[in-house]
Amino acid sequence: MFYDPSYEALRRSDMEQLQVERLQITLNRACRNVAFYEKTLTRAGFDVGRIKTVADLRQLPLTTKDDLRRAYPYGMFAVPLRDIVRLHATSGTTGMPIVTGYTRNDVRLWASLVARQLVAVGISDHDVVQIAFSYGLFTGGLGFHYGAERLGASVIPASASPSPREQNQILKDYKATALLTMPSYALTMAHHLEAMGIHPEQLVLRVAILGAEPWSEELRQRLQTRFHVRAYDTYGVAEIMGPGISGECDQQCGLHLNEDHFIAEVIDPDSGEPLGPGETGELVLTTITKEGFPLVRYRTGDLTRLDPEPCACGRTLVRMARVSGRTDDLIFLNGVKVLPSHVEAVLQGAQGIEPDFRIVLERDGDAEVMRVQVAPSPDAGRFDEIRALELLQRDLSQRLVDELRVPVNLTFVEAATVRPATPANAKKRYAVVDQRPRTPG
Ligand code: ZN
Repeated sequence: MFYDPSYEALRRSDMEQLQVERLQITLNRACRNVAFYEKTLTRAGFDVGRIKTVADLRQLPLTTKDDLRRAYPYGMFAVPLRDIVRLHATSGTTGMPIVTGYTRNDVRLWASLVARQLVAVGISDHDVVQIAFSYGLFTGGLGFHYGAERLGASVIPASASPSPREQNQILKDYKATALLTMPSYALTMAHHLEAMGIHPEQLVLRVAILGAEPWSEELRQRLQTRFHVRAYDTYGVAEIMGPGISGECDQQCGLHLNEDHFIAEVIDPDSGEPLGPGETGELVLTTITKEGFPLVRYRTGDLTRLDPEPCACGRTLVRMARVSGRTDDLIFLNGVKVLPSHVEAVLQGAQGIEPDFRIVLERDGDAEVMRVQVAPSPDAGRFDEIRALELLQRDLSQRLVDELRVPVNLTFVEAATVRPATPANAKKRYAVVDQRPRTPG
């Protein structure tokens, strides 16, 4: 099933032509209306008039998350605020938030791209769609909400606020046929479903669309069995539009990227050099239809690879593999984002510890926990001065909890345990050890 067959199954040569035309319009608008692009492109001597093919895009510089942070709050907007009808923002848990703006057209477009993804997995106006993503500044809730309404589905804006038990009750009583949420949250719901004595056969749920954090094929199998559904991956970037960038079709073999609205590249995250099809690297996206907040070669920080081969579903849109990791070691803990560099910033100013540390991630029943291991410095008191070390440990644990807002505890270990061992890690002061089972539960 297609929502937009004329674009989703467009001939490759026609798609490239469309991309170039839209790219030229976007570049001209960005250079004219966004000071950042006027400076980094026009004044830096890049002649955007010479961008004649999609490959020419590689001549232009990359845009980073820090560039967007520096423009806080409205510096990257390409239209005046009076033309913006919606504002969203990144959570800011990993640094300064990034505020994005949408024009009326952007919101309309966003809804239609989400609708594409829903139709691709068999959702229609006959479905009851329970959205258990956060609403508010986060793009997940409203993004999916508008897409599902566009299709004419019956939308339950459950949001992420109800408890997992309440969420399950809604699932059962309202006869939801589609559940949209984060995979870690779906797993928590599955645990509670069993505890509540609800058998999957008592539900009419058919489909789950899961995303906003990396997840594994093993977890997909587990959730499909637990809920008796087909589960599909979805991908979004809050700085661009949250859901609607790419999503799986019923073949479950990669996420079709909406190339008539985004140009995707994969680069080597260290050198910035472009990588070929099938090679894993950092995903870089250029928006070619967004009015309010256009981005040129934006570094997403997500690691993936692209597969241009035709798909059995009939779509010609390139497929990206599920995200396999992050360039910045971003950790997802119970769905909350934590950057090791943030841990480092908290520990850096602390007296009495060595600079190297290790982050160990574990699963304790339903919850994921994070342990930070550090070595006390020689002047922090010897191991027999237990009282002093205890106080220091408690103080540092509290500081981490206050700053990171996730369950974390700090323990002291021998210096040799936390010293990064391999030369590849020499520049990093930390290591991340993920001991969470790949098939939890
Ligand atoms: Zn497909």
